Amino acid sequence: MNIHEYQAKALLRSYGAPVSDGQIVTRAEEAKTAAGKLDGPVWVVKAQIHAGGRGKGRFAEAEAGEKGGVRLTRSVSEAAEEARKMLGRTLVTHQTGPAGKQVGRVYIEEGSGIARELYLALLVDRQTSRVAFVCSTEGGMDIEEVAAATPGKILSFSVDPVTGYQPYHGRRIAFALELEGQQVKQCVRLMGQLYKLFMEKDCEMLEINPLIVTDVGDLKCLDAKMGFDSNALYRHEDILALRDESEEDPKELQASRYDLNYIALEGEIGCMVNGAGLAMATMDIIKLYGAEPANFLDVGGGATKEKVTEAFKIITSDENVKGILVNIFGGIMRCDVIAEGVVAAVKEVGLQVPLVVRLEGTNVEKGKAIINDSGLNVIAADNLSDAAEKIVKAVKG
Ligand code: GDP
Ligand code: MN
Repeated sequence: MNIHEYQAKALLRSYGAPVSDGQIVTRAEEAKTAAGKLDGPVWVVKAQIHAGGRGKGRFAEAEAGEKGGVRLTRSVSEAAEEARKMLGRTLVTHQTGPAGKQVGRVYIEEGSGIARELYLALLVDRQTSRVAFVCSTEGGMDIEEVAAATPGKILSFSVDPVTGYQPYHGRRIAFALELEGQQVKQCVRLMGQLYKLFMEKDCEMLEINPLIVTDVGDLKCLDAKMGFDSNALYRHEDILALRDESEEDPKELQASRYDLNYIALEGEIGCMVNGAGLAMATMDIIKLYGAEPANFLDVGGGATKEKVTEAFKIITSDENVKGILVNIFGGIMRCDVIAEGVVAAVKEVGLQVPLVVRLEGTNVEKGKAIINDSGLNVIAADNLSDAAEKIVKAVKG
């Protein structure tokens, strides 16, 4: 789960990390009062979306010469005016895709004087199973570009979880970032704060780009991107409260409400399967027969009829879906429950595309009878490859 920059900065602040003062604005009328609480002479107005590259991004239907999602202003009224212009509009950056993202919140921040822009990130290094620091003197630009053009300018190392963060880690980063004097001490302290935050809150990613040296020579976090391990959110109510559902895929959001393991994909065949392993195998075999899965969906072990109905509705609401494959191996999950869910969902939302059903295991005969008696136009399949072949044929002819 990702959070907004302003939320990440509040977390950073609570761990003692240096960030600017700011105010969040969701309605244009609030902008002037909010900006008025901050000191100038520069106010930075920043669109809050879960995507980077806002500064270089463009608003849909932008006026000629109009700036992107990060704007420097020189008065409270100018800041309020720019905030008003951003709210409700769609911002397109290289990370949002061409559709862009709608700006529902704008952050107004006290402007900083910048001497240097640096790059810093913490992430989970899956190769070493450790938390790694990544830093570079080339801040303010995409780290992917730096990695491609000048890989020598990136320092990366992981931290041994037994010792945890040690001051020498911070000094190593300070040296790589060519910091001097008081900045070295600030760096050692800041890296410790970031590591602590990362571990305590079960982060997946924490990126400060840019980390700046201010015009008076201090370190400051000017931007912040933070992602958390969704599997650990149950023990972080404070983080879960920061979730912005408007940033999520509506189908995935609906699925999470029903505790379904659902991930939207690009293909044309909707899949309803029980068990992650069988779901993967089903996706593989669809590909083998020449089509692409439209989703990963594991309805889980003890799914109810309501849950199955909801899962089926989510699949059919995807307009890319040209056919549906239900593949259930009834163990804990009973085939008749799946059948009842499918029939109930079709009665509610109709069925515009071919449907292949393969049932096996507990109560399979009962399940098949429910589907046969329903009058639904279902293509029955006997095994996995038969099912995949039939649905691909039904879709592609
Ligand atoms: P991003 O484009 O989404 O990564 O947003 P950032 O928060 O990183 O801002 C983009 C760029 O705007 C930064 O790299 C800075 O160059 C500039 N910027 C942001 N805040 C300030 C500020 O307070 N003062 C100045 N002078 N520039 C800023
Ligand atoms: Mn940035």
